[in-house]
Amino acid sequence: MIDLHTHSTCSDGSDAPERIPEMAAAAGCSAVALTDHDTLKCVGRARARARELGIELVAGCEVSCRYRGSSAHVLVYFVEDGEGPLQDELARLREDRVARNHRLAERLAELDVPITYDDIVHEAGAEESAGRPHVAALLVRRGLAESVPDAFDRWLGEGRPAYVPKARVTPAEIAAAATASGGVAVLAHPFSLGLDVGALDDVAAELEAAGFAGMEAYYGAYRPDERAQLVTVARRHGLVPTGGSDYHGTSKPSLRVCTGQGDLSVPDDVLAELRERRPATR
Ligand code: AMP
Ligand code: ZN
Ligand code: FE
Ligand code: FE
Repeated sequence: MIDLHTHSTCSDGSDAPERIPEMAAAAGCSAVALTDHDTLKCVGRARARARELGIELVAGCEVSCRYRGSSAHVLVYFVEDGEGPLQDELARLREDRVARNHRLAERLAELDVPITYDDIVHEAGAEESAGRPHVAALLVRRGLAESVPDAFDRWLGEGRPAYVPKARVTPAEIAAAATASGGVAVLAHPFSLGLDVGALDDVAAELEAAGFAGMEAYYGAYRPDERAQLVTVARRHGLVPTGGSDYHGTSKPSLRVCTGQGDLSVPDDVLAELRERRPATR
């Protein structure tokens, strides 16, 4: 069993990066990927702890992309923190994130919501890791939403009053940067595109042509029949059906590392298959 999708305090998760391999090992996983939004900076900390525990830590990150008038999340694996085309792109994305958060704070002020930019940064612990889930937590605490999902429904989601768009890059651009940095790109939680399985078949064909290596199928929040449908779509287009919990800690309290809602079990083989898709090193 493995988990190829987790978040730590380096983005919008609530657990320190060291905790991710600890929880994965405790759950009986042999490998876990840390996939924080827009950053690889905490991979080293997680890996150091993973070594002590005798579990494999896969370097990863997750990027929100512009796609078909909506947003697609792309996971990248096997790229380490350091120098390179993907790493440069991630630095630009973190700048976009900070600028978006400033605009989001201005928008909240216009809406007479008592949450400042400093409040958001304080909630996140660091400027570059701040995201909408931190704002959602503040909205709940101020009594302006009942829960984090409710905060997205009322304020922060696409088309809602405090929504400020951020995604600038496309999936094809991220796949190209990932490949140039020796990594692979995978479409995260495909049903978030709001499309049915038939339309996702078309998406899979397009992403395969754009150089994608995989598509998430074994996703923590999906039902077993949905996972099976996505495995079929991925395989039809030569994509590796990957998977993970999308563990975030307190903002998604029903999900656990490796086991998701209790019924997740991502096969070890998909990591080996994904590794075979790495571009040849120049
Ligand atoms: P950001 O990258 O700051 O725009 O925040 C995006 C993150 O917010 C996603 O990766 C999810 O973790 C979270 N998110 C997005 N939509 C929702 C929602 N409807 N309910 C709860 N969390 C959400
Ligand atoms: Zn997140
Ligand atoms: Fe995501
Ligand atoms: Fe995620």
